[in-house]
Amino acid sequence: MSIETRASICDWLAFSADSQRADLMDPNLTTTDLIEFLVQLRVYRPQPQSVLVTSVHSDHPTIDGPDGHNPGGNAIDFVDNLGAPEHLLADVQKCPNARGIGAGGSYQQYAAALGGYSPESKLFEDNNSDHIHVQVVGY
Ligand SMILES: [Zn+2]
Repeated sequence: MSIETRASICDWLAFSADSQRADLMDPNLTTTDLIEFLVQLRVYRPQPQSVLVTSVHSDHPTIDGPDGHNPGGNAIDFVDNLGAPEHLLADVQKCPNARGIGAGGSYQQYAAALGGYSPESKLFEDNNSDHIHVQVVGY
């Protein structure tokens, strides 16, 4: 994954903290598989700033292991920034690199219509904070 691709993805995303862009630009902090997931998601949601990142690696509040944000660099949290949250969750499901998709807070209301919590739907029930968690390995 080229640094140009990382920069292009960063220009497409909206960020809630400056460290998130730096994390996504650094191959030592975020994996190629994670960037590839974001490239896949952009196909379904090409509008700039339509996805608002809420946590990447350095700003993740807990150490969640090699499959997760930190130290793994294999996960990202975000919210819809376009007024179509249920569509964002469905778009994430279509991305081959999205292995585990956590529905947090208000996103939990869409899980049943999208196949419920199962390996087939790739969805699991996350915490009560409004966000979608995506991990690109494990699950
Ligand atoms: Zn997460």
